[in-house]
Amino acid sequence: MTPGRPPARPACAPEPDPTADQATKDAMSNATTDSPAHSASTASTLITNIAALVTNDPSLGDSSPLGLIQDAAVVIEGDRVAWTGDQSKAPATDNRFDAGGRAVIPGFVDSHSHLVFAGDRTQEFNARMSGRPYSAGGIRTTVAATRAASDEELEANLTHYLREALRQGTTTFETKSGYGLTVRDEARALRIAAAHTDEVTYLGAHIVSPDHADDPASYVALVTGEMLDACAPYARWIDVFCEKGAFDGDQARAILTAGKAKGLHPRIHANQLSYGPGVQLAVELDAASADHCTHLTDADVDALANSRTVATLLPGAEFSTRAEWPDARRLLDAGVTVALSTDCNPGSSFTSSVPFCIALAVRDMGMTPDEALWSATAGGAAALRRDDIGRLTPGSRADLLLLDAPSHVHLAYRPGVPLVGGVWRKGAHVGS
Ligand SMILES: [Zn+2]
Repeated sequence: MTPGRPPARPACAPEPDPTADQATKDAMSNATTDSPAHSASTASTLITNIAALVTNDPSLGDSSPLGLIQDAAVVIEGDRVAWTGDQSKAPATDNRFDAGGRAVIPGFVDSHSHLVFAGDRTQEFNARMSGRPYSAGGIRTTVAATRAASDEELEANLTHYLREALRQGTTTFETKSGYGLTVRDEARALRIAAAHTDEVTYLGAHIVSPDHADDPASYVALVTGEMLDACAPYARWIDVFCEKGAFDGDQARAILTAGKAKGLHPRIHANQLSYGPGVQLAVELDAASADHCTHLTDADVDALANSRTVATLLPGAEFSTRAEWPDARRLLDAGVTVALSTDCNPGSSFTSSVPFCIALAVRDMGMTPDEALWSATAGGAAALRRDDIGRLTPGSRADLLLLDAPSHVHLAYRPGVPLVGGVWRKGAHVGS
């Protein structure tokens, strides 16, 4: 870091860029889509006067996992990073942006969210936080509202939360179905999600559909049969909530194995509320991620440490349900790759803010500010098996954030403060 460096000032506003207006308009109108047609122009832009640049490439800068370069610059060309390094060595470019002594970090990769939904569960949250009993239907409440919503309503809701997340620095997000639980409603949720991201997850196995409450086996047959056939064309991933009251280990294995046979790759809601088979199953099936990981045995931690499976921690859920925090320190010390995501959903974690999750992880889960930032960027990319995002090195996608702070440490040091002062996605300046 650079102690004593002045914080951002109004004078740090970007220099006029004649191409910026149209580029910004294009980017904002398409900011929540992943279509290549929405990439920036091929003009090169130098972002210079960066107090501290996080590259997530340990071969750069201070050789830490963050690959931190001080007094740095970045060159964006089209939708890619073309160059990073000491600002005094920056090459000539078409355009120039003065970062004004602020920090630049990779865009956040939110690898776990549930954004295709309708309805509201304010009363449920209010009752929980007020210590009052509340007997409404939990996920079933959202399922009923989602089924009743039109396609247009679901898409408008999704777009609303994507823009909210983008303003807070999320440049890549994964999202899931799981509030339809019929063939028609799961397939349409995925179709709507697929118009906005490449990282779409089929979660027909969120809970046993209320329509099959008396015969869970028939619902597993539907999820692995007709529903899978209808959903697979829109999804990259398949997920299951492996937990008491949802799906047991054998059911989860059957569901994920069926998905793999259809070309979907597994990820699992595992070991959130209790000890169970989810993490071991994730490793057995080479799942990209085991998500939640709050209740882990030593054998679970060892299995994760000796696998490619990322442990994705979701502190918004523990915050919103006053539950026990996952022990990030234990996982990191064992050598497990950890990602940090929002789990944004209307029931148990209604935050779209990755910076909020970073602050919680540092305060309550034993992560250092450096580790939390890495997990919310490179860790999220690892949980999606992506190497083109979550880092700022030549060839990576030009997704980067300008913080209104001299260092990324401020994300945890100044919790709740909107520090994301600028967002570039696919090389286009899309906000602030
Ligand atoms: Zn979730």
